[in-house]
Amino acid sequence: MTGNITFTMIKPDAVEANNIGPILAMINKAGFNILAMKYMRLTKEQAGQFYAVHKERPFYGELTEYMSSGPIVAAILTKPNAVADYRQLIGATDPTKADEGTIRKVFAKSIAANAVHGSDSNENAQIESNFFFSELERF
Ligand code: UDP
Ligand code: MG
Repeated sequence: MTGNITFTMIKPDAVEANNIGPILAMINKAGFNILAMKYMRLTKEQAGQFYAVHKERPFYGELTEYMSSGPIVAAILTKPNAVADYRQLIGATDPTKADEGTIRKVFAKSIAANAVHGSDSNENAQIESNFFFSELERF
């Protein structure tokens, strides 16, 4: 593995808007390599498990409904300082507060439909990657 890893999803709004290609181009241009990738649709239960840390939050029901509403792209990305650098590349959760040139500023529709997920710590990057990918699916 080169550098460390982060986990990302291209969320249903960005898939629906045909922005998989442009988002992957930004990811590669920023120096991330793809360690694993799949195109799939989560069930509401799986989305609920993935976002279990947010289950007491008021937006949890809407979030799990939304994240299971259509296909997503899940990927493990690698780069030195992957978690922090990727959070910087995606921008703030609320796209109206995201910096110019970030993925969410360019592609997000709203605070809920905000185009991409990015891990918030090395520990969660491992947990989230293991939720989606076996060792045989990592290259
Ligand atoms: N979210 C939402 N409303 C909020 C905050 C978050 O719908 O007020 C959604 C949004 O899709 C966000 C996800 O819940 O990406 C997880 O929230 P978190 O605070 O972890 O933001 P992130 O780490 O994705 O920036
Ligand atoms: Mg988060």
